Amino acid sequence: MIHNFNAGPSILPKEVFEQAAAAILNFNDTGLSILEFGHRTPEFTAVMEEARSLVRELMQLDENREVLFLHGGASTQFMQVPMNLLDSKESAAYTDTDIWGQKAITEAKLFGKVDVVCSSKDKNYNYIPKDFAVPNDSKYLHITTNNTIYGTQWQTIPKTSNSLVADMSSDIFSRVLDFNAFDLIYAGAQKNMGPAGVNLVVVNKNILGKVKRVIPTIMDYRNHIKEGSMLNTPPVFAVYVCLLTLRWLKANGGVAAMEKKNIEKADLLYNEIDNNELFIGNVAREDRSKMNACFVMKDPSLEKEFLQYAKSLGIVGIAGHRTTGGFRASIYNAMPISSVQVLVETMQSFGQLKMKN
Ligand SMILES: *Cc1c(COP(=O)(O)O)cnc(C)c1O
Repeated sequence: MIHNFNAGPSILPKEVFEQAAAAILNFNDTGLSILEFGHRTPEFTAVMEEARSLVRELMQLDENREVLFLHGGASTQFMQVPMNLLDSKESAAYTDTDIWGQKAITEAKLFGKVDVVCSSKDKNYNYIPKDFAVPNDSKYLHITTNNTIYGTQWQTIPKTSNSLVADMSSDIFSRVLDFNAFDLIYAGAQKNMGPAGVNLVVVNKNILGKVKRVIPTIMDYRNHIKEGSMLNTPPVFAVYVCLLTLRWLKANGGVAAMEKKNIEKADLLYNEIDNNELFIGNVAREDRSKMNACFVMKDPSLEKEFLQYAKSLGIVGIAGHRTTGGFRASIYNAMPISSVQVLVETMQSFGQLKMKN
């Protein structure tokens, strides 16, 4: 048995893989593969509509929010968001809480002015900044709700009178939030929702159409809204797999049930990190991510050996990001608690092994 702790692309429910595999051979009993199926057909239009309406239901969105499935990764949204929302003479507030936030900042600067209102770079991004002010005239405040690489997460969403924009790529559908408090939410699918190649965008339609620049057709959210997220050929298969995950989410109790399970998993793992002599959690406790747990070994010379040992027991994907080293265990919605238990037992048995030697 393999326990997949990859950060992204990452684990999805087994039944989603099975249903996706079946649809590659025979989609909806049509005798055709989903890969050779027209996107304008009633069958695929139904897929898109069900996926959009499940997002609406699971996030309890109000009637101002529009749900889109767009091509590209979250990195495309780093550019598309300011292109649609920020005029060249206006400024937007950005929070610098990891490499992804930094990349969002770099792209926003191409379109307008950027105020970096806080940063945790001074401590290698191991905490979430608490005290910062957002200028009143900022067009929006951008946050990365979960910092996939450094393992921090905004446990409370900052209260602001500004428009809120969030990159939720790595914690979408993992916890209950007031999603209507955000004017724009985006998430690359491949962490908690589906395969790479599609973005979920939830946007308050009332904030669109305010910038003066000419926006290329495919980049303008309004065109996608008008066409029901079918402006051009959507990433058909990726959207279909997202639909399967969304159905699974609903059948398993929705976002609140996921949150409960995610808290149990995170508690189990962090408890071991804190109590095992060999390991140290390297993120401020109150800001610890419930999706990506980062930790190191007190004796770094043992890290390679632990990785090998874990791998021999079926544990994959726990090496830290290339910029941080150490370990990162990603425990997304689809990760069963039994796999976290195996990781915890492996950390314990590695300790016993070391004591013997
Ligand atoms: C993975 C990730 C991204 C980048 O996504 P791409 O699909 O590779 O563009 C951006 N933001 C966050 C928070 C991520 O976890």
